Amino acid sequence: MISYFISLLYPTYCEGCGRTLVRGEECLCLYCLENLPRTDFHHYKDNPVEMVFAGQSPVFRATAFCFFNKGNIMQKLIHQLKYKDNKAIGFYLGHQFGLELAKIEAFQSIDLIIPVPLHPKKFRQRGYNQSECIGKGISETLSKPMDTSSIIRVTPTSTQTKKARYQRWENVSGIFQLTDPNALTGKHILLVDDVITTGATIEAAARLLLTLPWVKVSVACLAYAGN
Ligand SMILES: [Zn+2]
Repeated sequence: MISYFISLLYPTYCEGCGRTLVRGEECLCLYCLENLPRTDFHHYKDNPVEMVFAGQSPVFRATAFCFFNKGNIMQKLIHQLKYKDNKAIGFYLGHQFGLELAKIEAFQSIDLIIPVPLHPKKFRQRGYNQSECIGKGISETLSKPMDTSSIIRVTPTSTQTKKARYQRWENVSGIFQLTDPNALTGKHILLVDDVITTGATIEAAARLLLTLPWVKVSVACLAYAGN
């Protein structure tokens, strides 16, 4: 009852359409939540995200929650998450994503959730790792622990969009380092990132993790920006 009166005094707005949220709604209104441009990729093998890794690293399963297009709601939400200090939207979308992953058998054997680490310099600039916000939402929904320290980023990478494919892959080798290999050995690890485009960065992290014995790597990105 008290929170109802507080919401009358301080209304919150949908991050998608700007409408006033009603009781039971959080971050997004029901309409925006139901109309998210979901990919449903996790329901089938060899989906477009898995094809990003084909012939590169043998990931177990890979998927993305929604499509990312110029001007669509995901672009808007991810902009909020990355540049407007809106950590809650990352946690909220991670939670929604986790609800979908929980229905898929292949994702039930996950032992550990690892958000793709930011370089310390970038982390200081932003004040947080946006992938960690998403990972936290997934972690709570799947009831699996999150690990933010066993793999670190040691090299900041420059923008790679204009480079040839082979140069991109070369450019990202060696950007991550393992700090605690024993904590990861034998685990099925879910790598979490915000947007997947070329997949080069997340592939570099996957490749490093796969050097450990009996490790299985799956990938969950909030948005897919490929065509
Ligand atoms: Zn809305």
